[in-house]
Amino acid sequence: MRKSKTTKRRTAAQYKNLKCQNSDLETSKYVKFAPLDGPCTEVVNVPDEVTRVLCYRCTSRSASGK
Ligand SMILES: [Zn+2]
Repeated sequence: MRKSKTTKRRTAAQYKNLKCQNSDLETSKYVKFAPLDGPCTEVVNVPDEVTRVLCYRCTSRSASGK
């Protein structure tokens, strides 16, 4: 069994507020799930290592397929 010497686990995860990636329709991969009336303005609290997020609204839109 290997012992891990360097445990970089943070005791408390760091979080940040990240805008839904549909706030920038030019770079988003999920443009088709963006609100019909324009870029999404939703902000999501995510772990620090997350670089892109899709908010629950766009997510549910993608789930419903409409
Ligand atoms: Zn969104």
